[in-house]
Amino acid sequence: MPLTPEQLVRPEILALKAYHVSDAEGMVKLDAMENPYRLPAELREGLAAALAAAEINRYPEPTGRRLRELLARTMDVPAGMDLLLGNGSDDLIQMVTFTLARPGATVMYVEPTFVMYRMNAIFSGMKAVGVPSREDFSLDREAFITAVREHKPALVFIAYPNNPTGVLFDAEDVAAIIRATDGVVVLDEAYHVFAQKSFMSRLPEFPNLVVMRTVSKLGLAGIRLGYLAARPEWVAEFNKVRQAYNVSVLTQTAAMYVLGKLDVLEAQAEIIRGERRTVREGLAALPGVTVYPSAANFFLTRVPDANRAFEGLKSRGVLVRNFHGAHPLMQNCLRITVGTPEENRKLLSVLRDVL
Ligand SMILES: *Cc1c(COP(=O)(O)O)cnc(C)c1O
Repeated sequence: MPLTPEQLVRPEILALKAYHVSDAEGMVKLDAMENPYRLPAELREGLAAALAAAEINRYPEPTGRRLRELLARTMDVPAGMDLLLGNGSDDLIQMVTFTLARPGATVMYVEPTFVMYRMNAIFSGMKAVGVPSREDFSLDREAFITAVREHKPALVFIAYPNNPTGVLFDAEDVAAIIRATDGVVVLDEAYHVFAQKSFMSRLPEFPNLVVMRTVSKLGLAGIRLGYLAARPEWVAEFNKVRQAYNVSVLTQTAAMYVLGKLDVLEAQAEIIRGERRTVREGLAALPGVTVYPSAANFFLTRVPDANRAFEGLKSRGVLVRNFHGAHPLMQNCLRITVGTPEENRKLLSVLRDVL
């Protein structure tokens, strides 16, 4: 008799929920930290020509050599560090985790944070230890370092700034954690264009530091490209776990083309940073709403009744992310991505109505 999934699937996988993505058809989409702006028309034409010329009958160059060289130059990767490319940074999180998953090894992170750290720890059979942040979502340095001494993690993930809170941890607290950890520390800088703070230039200081980034929040979420920078001896090991052709010809071609015109995306990011101020002030002015400080392109807010506000927004065409129930520290919290000025106005006026 064939066994059922309940009998055959690993219990920790049975207990998981698949990563949730809401249907956003026709909605003002403020749930996923995307850049709301498309490429300008002339760049879209140039991109179309570049993609048309790509040799999709061939496998991609496996490590994306030319793209790595371009990224090393444009992203100020310090000399002596190597780059590794991923099918989004989610792919890189998985590679690093699989590489370090010795039996009994532990992954640590601050809570609440990006769920993929915990998910990948579970996929790879590692122990997952989350250390709660303080109530204002700042990093509890003493508690984290105490937990590091107790659990001796092989791997620590720190999102800098953090998601879903938007909070940028104090750089000296982060440095102290890197120094206190014998394992690898991955600093996930998915929002670096909005934070304008980075540990990239400090890589030479810390032998166990990996700086990970994505082009998703910059405006290229659809192409799926992440990169990490670290010492060659670490990259060489992570690279063994990489799926042979993990970054497609189309992704490499599109990234080469668009990153060659990075100033366009950076100008969009600057507009979003300006809108961030408008949205923060607008949210803070709403009665009963707490807005947490954000160095990213979104805000975590606490409202009197998150389920009601979420449904009210949704029924009026605005999609945000509801974190009520996801973690004890996030009771009645909604995460709201900064959109275009028009989208932000709609968000603020609808939210005012539904509160
Ligand atoms: C969005 C996000 C990612 C995922 O990036 P992809 O490159 O799109 O897979 C990784 N880390 C954090 C903290 C994020 O918010």
